[in-house]
Amino acid sequence: MNLHEYQGKELLNSFGVRIQRGIVADNHKKAVEAAKQLAIDTGTGWWVVKAQIHAGGRGKGGGVKLAKSLAEVETISESIIGMMLKTPQTSAEGKKVHQVLICEDVYYPGDNEPEEYYMSVLLNRATGRNMIMYSTEGGMDIETVAENTPHLIFTEEIDPLIGLQPFQARKVAFNLGLSGGALKEMIKFVTSLYTAFVKSDASLFEINPVLKTSDDKILAVDSKVALDDNALYRHKDLAELRDLREENEIEVEANAAGLNYVDLDGNVGCMVNGAGLAMSTMDLIKQSGGEPANFLDVGGTADAKRVEIAFRIILKDPNVKAILVNIFGGIVRCDRVAQGIIDAFVNMGDAIKVPIIVRLQGTNAIEAKQLIDASGLNVISVTEFQEAADKVKEVLG
Ligand code: GDP
Ligand code: MN
Repeated sequence: MNLHEYQGKELLNSFGVRIQRGIVADNHKKAVEAAKQLAIDTGTGWWVVKAQIHAGGRGKGGGVKLAKSLAEVETISESIIGMMLKTPQTSAEGKKVHQVLICEDVYYPGDNEPEEYYMSVLLNRATGRNMIMYSTEGGMDIETVAENTPHLIFTEEIDPLIGLQPFQARKVAFNLGLSGGALKEMIKFVTSLYTAFVKSDASLFEINPVLKTSDDKILAVDSKVALDDNALYRHKDLAELRDLREENEIEVEANAAGLNYVDLDGNVGCMVNGAGLAMSTMDLIKQSGGEPANFLDVGGTADAKRVEIAFRIILKDPNVKAILVNIFGGIVRCDRVAQGIIDAFVNMGDAIKVPIIVRLQGTNAIEAKQLIDASGLNVISVTEFQEAADKVKEVLG
């Protein structure tokens, strides 16, 4: 689960990480109130208006703007809220902006040497350890830095049993070229950042830029936070931060129904039980000249109700030209699943307009095929994997 910048910053701040302060607003009037409040709280005279969407690169897309007066806060907020913001990380149509974060301006006017760093915390899957990745080259695409100047990216791996050790935090600060007060601030920053990462069961923190002001403050100007979904049950407060508007609508609905669904770009919908079988079914679709429209694991209980929900979800995707059902009946008998498919089909009336190919294999597969063939419904029943592929090819034409 991803957080918005403002939510991520609040999370960091609750663990003692210094942040650029801000107040979120969902209309331009509230944005002005937020700016006034920030002026009182921080003494800032300029503000930054930042679009809150789940995508980076907002600056480049026109979603981060400096406002030098309350009037500018108002006009900029008005133009950003409601816009479709396109950035290098969104789709071509962009993402709708529902709220802006009004921030204190931390790049002091006249500050000629603000330093921008890059810092992230993530799991190194190769070593099975968390690591801090950091660079002096902040404020720009880390991918570009990695390509052109890889020697300017440092990593520090953390022993999971011991945790981040003081010498490691100092090393990070030294490698960033810091000394004096800024060095001390950076040590504190890194240490609390890592604590926040572990305590919130995060899977990614990316702070770009981390800013050093001319008076040696170190603070997070941006935040990208991803939390581990499997650990959310022990962070009820964080789970509530989920913004469903940012997520794929069909995926949200499928998840609510307990289905494991991932939306893809292809033309053949698939309904499968078990993730491994789903993967090989997607390969099969590709081999038969189609492209999978989704990944869908209905799980162990492929009863009529679940099958119907799965059909409805697959059919929400207008690109679906055919549906392939590939279910292995082990504990769940194939004839039960076949009856479920028939019931769902009948129940849906004429909602199903695309050809359906069903391959049931396992316990009572023969009875299942007989049931479907005898139903008189527009369902093509096969028993072999290759047959299913041939039928997909045939119906796609
Ligand atoms: P991103 O483009 O989505 O990564 O959004 P960021 O939060 O990183 O903001 C983009 C850029 O806006 C930063 O790299 C900064 O250069 C600039 N920016 C952010 N905060 C301030 C600020 O307080 N003052 C000024 N002048 N610029 C800022
Ligand atoms: Mn950024």
